[in-house]
Amino acid sequence: MIEETIFSKIIRKELPSDMVYQDELVTAFRDISPRLPTHVLIIPNRHIPTVDDITDDDEAAMGRMLSVARKIAREEGISESGYRLIINCREDGRQEVPHLHMHLLGGEDVGPLISKKG
Ligand code: 5GP
Repeated sequence: MIEETIFSKIIRKELPSDMVYQDELVTAFRDISPRLPTHVLIIPNRHIPTVDDITDDDEAAMGRMLSVARKIAREEGISESGYRLIINCREDGRQEVPHLHMHLLGGEDVGPLISKKG
């Protein structure tokens, strides 16, 4: 079995978090180190390490992650101004926590998509 991360404990409420949404498929909570005024992580409740580990059975949870992002963005008042959704995958994607998660970032201009290395 692939070892679970701190995010599984957050889902089960064994560790504290600023949780903004939870249902039978996904959980959303504020990032502990917010980069922008709104920085929420939306994750599947099932421990899927990376995007590369998604199976056909996960399609409902993946779809739910997007609809929950839309709902939270509306609640945060950033639907009109806009926001960015980011999913990092493995080393080159700079994924730090091996439990698939989508960053919802907004509240001000998020800047360019990526800054090219010099
Ligand atoms: P990644 O770089 O893997 O895409 O993003 C991981 C994110 O998880 C980071 O933005 C980091 O601040 C956040 N994070 C790491 N540990 C915790 C934690 O224990 N609680 C919360 N709320 N966020 C965390």
